[in-house]
Amino acid sequence: MATTIQEEPKIAVMKALVYHGPNRRAWEDKPKPSVRETTDALVRITTTTICGTDLHIIKGEVPTVQAGRILGHEGVGVVEALGSAVTGFTVGDRVLISCVSSCGKCDTCKRGMPSHCRDGGWILGNTIDGTQAQYVRVPHADNSLYHSPAGIDEDALVMMSDIFPTGFECGTLSGQVKPGDSVAIVGAGPIGLAALLTSQFFSPAKLIVIDQDPNRLKVALSFGATHVVNFKTEKAVEKVRSLTKGEGVDVAIEAVGSPGSFETCQNIVAPGGRIANIGVHGRSVELHLEKLWSMNLTLTTRLVDTTSIPLLLKVHQSGKLDAKRMSTHKFALSDILKAYDTFGNAAQENALKVLLKA
Ligand code: ZN
Ligand code: ZN
Repeated sequence: MATTIQEEPKIAVMKALVYHGPNRRAWEDKPKPSVRETTDALVRITTTTICGTDLHIIKGEVPTVQAGRILGHEGVGVVEALGSAVTGFTVGDRVLISCVSSCGKCDTCKRGMPSHCRDGGWILGNTIDGTQAQYVRVPHADNSLYHSPAGIDEDALVMMSDIFPTGFECGTLSGQVKPGDSVAIVGAGPIGLAALLTSQFFSPAKLIVIDQDPNRLKVALSFGATHVVNFKTEKAVEKVRSLTKGEGVDVAIEAVGSPGSFETCQNIVAPGGRIANIGVHGRSVELHLEKLWSMNLTLTTRLVDTTSIPLLLKVHQSGKLDAKRMSTHKFALSDILKAYDTFGNAAQENALKVLLKA
């Protein structure tokens, strides 16, 4: 009987940022992912970043994320392997990974709402392993990846995974920003600043940014805010009203995810106005219908679909959207724990987006 000596199968390993329950995370060895479905891509990460949502996860505030999960839903990389059904990409392609994975075939995808794809949505770094690793498996690659435009700076490109589509779709578009509008953005983190930059596509007359961090307010002015309000030192509602002849704003964009900032939006919106919620809320808020019922308001909530990525890339390529200026810090991917500390201390560190380069 012939025998063959079989070597023990070598399990390829990689390094990844792993969530181990509230306030516990580690940069550790994990099995390198592989193509599982015919529609998958395996991507070698070259640039990734940390999102405010990741900080919520680390605190244990996002119950869908279980211990052992590799975090991260933003990234740029190179296709290393493809399932047999992927037709839009080839091995070696440089790609942008959308924070939303979508099949493109289900009823919600066909209704133009891939954020609620029956076999996708925001799953990366949430219910499946994410991008803060050397490699990531991306499901439904044909719909969930974008070709990197030739010559684009990767530091700008990675901002298109999440923050620019989110600021644009959930803030600017949901708020229906129009020429001449007065717009207030509550929260000057990266998402609020993305709403600030993309609101300017529509020439609003007033762009008021409200935050408590003097550095972020300074950044907001340099990004095109016409007025800033520090709610720590000023009465935000009165100041916004005085800036709008007592009327309030046409569009109030909530870019924090807290009861206080949602309250501010309700207090500064003008009759006929729109409140566009972007923030991820972990607690319930009060909705003052006793005051708002007669005000002809629109209140919108949504997850980002990232269907605006091609449009945003075109605007960026034309020189009209400086995406790269959002990046303030760069670390080697292996220094991700240090990067988390920096991003977690954004006010002291003057941090906006913290990039990780593999
Ligand atoms: Zn994000
Ligand atoms: Zn779908």
